[in-house]
Amino acid sequence: MKLTFLGTRGYIKPRTERHYMMASLLVSYRHTKVIIDRGEDWIGNDNWYDANAVLVTHAHPDHAWGLKAGAPCPVYASKDSWERMGSFKIDKRRTAGIHEPVTLGDITFEALGVEHSTRAPAVGYRVTCGRHSFFYAPDLVYIYDRQDALGGADIYIGDGSTVDISFVRKRDDTLIGHSPIRTELTWCHKEGVPLMIVTHCGAQIVGAEDEQVLIDRIDAFAAERDVKAAVAFDGMELLLR
Ligand SMILES: [Zn+2]
Ligand SMILES: [Zn+2]
Repeated sequence: MKLTFLGTRGYIKPRTERHYMMASLLVSYRHTKVIIDRGEDWIGNDNWYDANAVLVTHAHPDHAWGLKAGAPCPVYASKDSWERMGSFKIDKRRTAGIHEPVTLGDITFEALGVEHSTRAPAVGYRVTCGRHSFFYAPDLVYIYDRQDALGGADIYIGDGSTVDISFVRKRDDTLIGHSPIRTELTWCHKEGVPLMIVTHCGAQIVGAEDEQVLIDRIDAFAAERDVKAAVAFDGMELLLR
């Protein structure tokens, strides 16, 4: 299985060479390729990497608006997201139901609910390729069924909006926003996931004078929890055999 981080920036103005495009992931395994998320940065970009499908985590601009003019392949999204993507010129609409695994060629993916936004309910995807699997959730406060999402996974690819500052707000009794990386590393520890890869990087990482200072801080949080962490950057590739 090969992971290519096409973009690693969150929904923020600052951008650097390392975090230029909005968070998007290309998964390749044998003869199948899928892209997860395509934000508004990608409008006008014709490179679809020969993907067999695009999966959408939620209908926010930085995750879905690059699909406004359509896609050359089927697009999978939750019922909630489709309601918010009604005007998009997508021909091949597929609904990815929560806890309903979909097998597409050599890749299996399953949407699981995560708390993030009342206006754009979000999911994360548990993706399985042969004996490897990971959970991708770039925007979240928490995972509803954390054990289903993370149990037995090789990697958790999570929300880098904040390293250790709380961005969680309460609205009408629900939590919205972003969990700090520090908290996400605790989830990895609790569910036995050995590695967190940080994407959807926020101002703390992208706006840092020296990103290495933040990477060192994340590494320290990871070490305290007996897990490993890496901050993804645009173009980063990871091969799992
Ligand atoms: Zn986002
Ligand atoms: Zn969002």
